Amino acid sequence: MILDMDSKLELESIMPGRVKFDEPMSRHTSLKVGGPASVYAKPSGMAQLSKLLDWRRLSMPELNYIPVGSGTNLLVRDSGISQMVIDLSSFLSTTSKSSRTGNVLLVAGAGVKTVSLCRFTIRNGFSGLNMMLGIPGTIGGAAMMNAGTSTGSMGDIIESVIFMTESGQILTKEKKDLDFAYRKMSVKGFETASILLLKVCMNIKSEKFFNLGKEAQQILKKRKKTQPAGVASAGCFFKNPENNKSAGELIDQAGLKGKMVGGAQVSTKHANFIINKNKATAADIMELARLVQETVRNTFGVNLETEVKILG
Ligand SMILES: Cc1cc2nc3c(=O)[nH]c(=O)nc-3n(C[C@H](O)[C@H](O)[C@H](O)COP(=O)(O)OP(=O)(O)OC[C@H]3O[C@@H](n4cnc5c(N)ncnc54)[C@H](O)[C@@H]3O)c2cc1C
Repeated sequence: MILDMDSKLELESIMPGRVKFDEPMSRHTSLKVGGPASVYAKPSGMAQLSKLLDWRRLSMPELNYIPVGSGTNLLVRDSGISQMVIDLSSFLSTTSKSSRTGNVLLVAGAGVKTVSLCRFTIRNGFSGLNMMLGIPGTIGGAAMMNAGTSTGSMGDIIESVIFMTESGQILTKEKKDLDFAYRKMSVKGFETASILLLKVCMNIKSEKFFNLGKEAQQILKKRKKTQPAGVASAGCFFKNPENNKSAGELIDQAGLKGKMVGGAQVSTKHANFIINKNKATAADIMELARLVQETVRNTFGVNLETEVKILG
């Protein structure tokens, strides 16, 4: 959507220095691909976010929005995004509150980096978040994705979430109002796309005597051994199919490790990672993903669904 000059000036006055137009999404995604977002807004906090939503509602309700965190699970098409991207990675603040029973209510702003939160819990002797070690991105993104590993996911520890609705209302929803599925969280009665997650409240345990640091080292060592590091990717590209081998095993056994389309490659280390090896475009990645899906379907009769969110 193209904004006229007046609308751009209005937006700049609402959030000075925190809004960009035609901003390349390749700068904001771990895959380092993606065309421009017509509006890229990064509110500094709740007040600016409220003003932004008020402006949208009153001046440009037809401009839809997409909330993002660190962009580590996103694939943005080369043609870009016609909506307004709202980057919530500035919503920081972490607090923790202990209860008498040894449980800890950990409240984290949506923009807190998952990696930092894991470190914080280890330092304080709080267990329950180690399954998230090594997962990049924000805790807001992790909650929305119900991110995790085979040992657990965010849905296991989330007690409640605080979010802003399209109309600027701030709501708290408890576990009973949340649905967790494989790499997906939804709030009953709300469109997922309209939810702007502000805070995530987690129920974890205080375990001063358990060596969390040692456990963390083992988890990170395993991750380093099995996953490509220091390359542009979005983590596992496909969901693991139910009652079957993992997506990585199927792709590997279909002989696709190392397969390339343009600058995109099926990682030689972990077949469920598509990496941007050499200046790939989003189209290269999409074509490689299509080829993987087709080959796995023809070889094993299994349909692989993408875990990565495709935007644009
Ligand atoms: C090297 C690597 C390893 C990875 N390993 C794992 C893994 O082991 N397990 C796993 O589950 N994932 C993994 N991932 C994927 C990714 O890191 C996680 O899904 C992460 O939690 C996404 O967080 P993000 O802030 O980057 O979200 P984004 O990628 O920015 O967004 C992801 C989704 O959440 C929504 N969203 C983000 N923030 C908000 C918000 N505040 N309010 C509303 N909606 C929001 C977006 O609209 C989008 O739909 C990996 C990625 C990489 C690059």
